[in-house]
Amino acid sequence: MSGPDSAVGPAGPAFPAVRRDDASASFFDAAACGQLLVRRCPASGDVLAPEARTCPSCGSAGLDDVVASGRGTLVSWAVVHQAPVPSLAAAVPYVSVVVELAEGPWLLARLVESDASGLRAGTEVEVRFVRSGEPLAVPAGEVLPAFAVASRPGEPVSTRAGVASETPGAGGGETST
Ligand SMILES: [Zn+2]
Repeated sequence: MSGPDSAVGPAGPAFPAVRRDDASASFFDAAACGQLLVRRCPASGDVLAPEARTCPSCGSAGLDDVVASGRGTLVSWAVVHQAPVPSLAAAVPYVSVVVELAEGPWLLARLVESDASGLRAGTEVEVRFVRSGEPLAVPAGEVLPAFAVASRPGEPVSTRAGVASETPGAGGGETST
């Protein structure tokens, strides 16, 4: 399999290294395989964001991991010009997006493969997976979900193809330089 896209500029990686902890291990293991995990409460059926630890409806802490479609719609976005922390200095300007997954939860992530021009609330997006940190770093940074404007709105997303394919000429400052 081809590795996830990674983008490294002269001043550092576009995605600073992210490390797992015990609670996030299954999420990052799945992301490395091209799957976006969300959580589901078996008691109430609520589908929750990946970071959820308890169900807000019934209070259960026995949440299951389930694989999301990777498809969603844009709720909001912001173009970040000034790095909020030093590790993001090489990444600016970048676009942060709030995505409502098809399954319901909202995710905060980065937009890749394009800039913010042409975005609107409701734009269809689909997940991509990017390797955080320097490509040869040991240990390697975790693979993160990011989102791209859906290439063919309305068709099922293939996350595996999303990992393997490049988008030449798509523009934007996230995937090159
Ligand atoms: Zn519940």
